Amino acid sequence: MPPSRVIVVGAGPAGLMAAGQAAARGAETLLLERMERPGRKLIITGRGRCNLTNSSPLAEFIPHFGRQGDFLRQAFHRFFSDDLIGFLTDRGVATVTERGGRVFPASQAAGEVARAMVRWVEECGAVIRTHSRVTRLRIEGGRVMGVHLGAAGVERADAVVLATGGISYPETGSTGDGQRLAAAAGHAIEPLRPALVPLVTAGDTARRLQGLSLRNVRAGLRLDGRRGAEEFGEMLFTHFGVSGPIVLTLSGRAVDALRAGSEVALAIDLKPGLDERQLDARLQRDLQAAGRRRFATILKELLPRKLIPVCADLTGIATEMPGHQIDAAQRRRLGRWLKDFRLPVTGHRPPAEAIITAGGVSLREVDPRTLESRIVPGLHFAGEILDLQADTGGYNLQAAFSTGWLAGRAAAGVRENAD
Ligand SMILES: Cc1cc2nc3c(=O)[nH]c(=O)nc-3n(C[C@H](O)[C@H](O)[C@H](O)COP(=O)(O)OP(=O)(O)OC[C@H]3O[C@@H](n4cnc5c(N)ncnc54)[C@H](O)[C@@H]3O)c2cc1C
Repeated sequence: MPPSRVIVVGAGPAGLMAAGQAAARGAETLLLERMERPGRKLIITGRGRCNLTNSSPLAEFIPHFGRQGDFLRQAFHRFFSDDLIGFLTDRGVATVTERGGRVFPASQAAGEVARAMVRWVEECGAVIRTHSRVTRLRIEGGRVMGVHLGAAGVERADAVVLATGGISYPETGSTGDGQRLAAAAGHAIEPLRPALVPLVTAGDTARRLQGLSLRNVRAGLRLDGRRGAEEFGEMLFTHFGVSGPIVLTLSGRAVDALRAGSEVALAIDLKPGLDERQLDARLQRDLQAAGRRRFATILKELLPRKLIPVCADLTGIATEMPGHQIDAAQRRRLGRWLKDFRLPVTGHRPPAEAIITAGGVSLREVDPRTLESRIVPGLHFAGEILDLQADTGGYNLQAAFSTGWLAGRAAAGVRENAD
């Protein structure tokens, strides 16, 4: 007998998908959202363009979630990127695939995805109730039996899906309620911390470079002096430190290393296309040809304008020095700096400014086949509330949609065939 009533808490991508699935499977479904409308975070994703998934195959997709990726195998086997693209196309949202396999709505409008989801949920027969904040789970005889809505009373249910997101961008409604509700029900919560977050660097170097965007550079972490992960691409200097795609990708590891008390630095290779020998030969040639031209003028061919005074300060070579006076030791110092521009990382921006939250409901206590709690029968989890986080590129939204799909069906009593 399928449960007659399912409550889904949180109308983000995970909750919308879960509610639609549960209702489409015949359950009387109520989707509770604390904000004034559903999908507040969804509409700001991908700078308003919504990078909804990635076209890379499963074997390449899963490693983007790190060690926890395997947990998602069951959900992805049942509802993956092709299914999501087909699902949205059937609902009038055409998609385009861009560089790096990133998939966006062809309209380039995240709002279109949110509207299509809401329409579908309502067509499936689920009721969406906004301004409804769940404050407590109702648990009777060890089983979830509904939710408390503060002064608004109790809503009873045979199954509950918690899809309340993480703690980043709290103005969208995600403030960690779900993790607190799960903890009160006995679930272990992996510490919540920011991931895909800008990093704070020491001194005033970043502030001097504020607004400068570097393309085609390689940046790597140095953790207690040892080489860590590296990324190639684009980064940005801000008034407090560094941001941009490659910094965000590296940030999760930097945050964890800082929490562990390690010394963290970012090493930027400004000339990744040349090895040290090739770069030295090029510098030698440039300096010989330079004659009386000033160091600052020579650097114009090597660096963006904003980096020139910083380079001069950090290499100790005066901007006024004529090229022919720069000796071999100075040239080698310049070469080393161009390959290893080091910025000590002293911290990170707060979780509120992170694209996603690392940590959450521990995966050990959730069945990956149904996303049901192993502690409280009838309770399911979907989306960022779980201890899952991935790189940028559409992976996080796909995880939200896929876990929502599976949790919604399981909450409605559908048993998928085991793999
Ligand atoms: C600026 C930004 C850009 C992003 N861009 C991308 C991108 O392009 N591609 C990508 O893959 N990922 C992106 N992400 C990440 C992605 O948005 C999240 O991973 C995804 O939204 C998680 O979905 P969710 O449904 O689990 O949670 P959320 O989207 O956070 O939704 C949770 C919902 O639960 C509601 N809620 C919370 N507590 C309660 C409660 N007690 N009672 C009732 N309702 C409650 C909240 O109001 C919210 O509506 C981006 C994130 C940010 C912040």
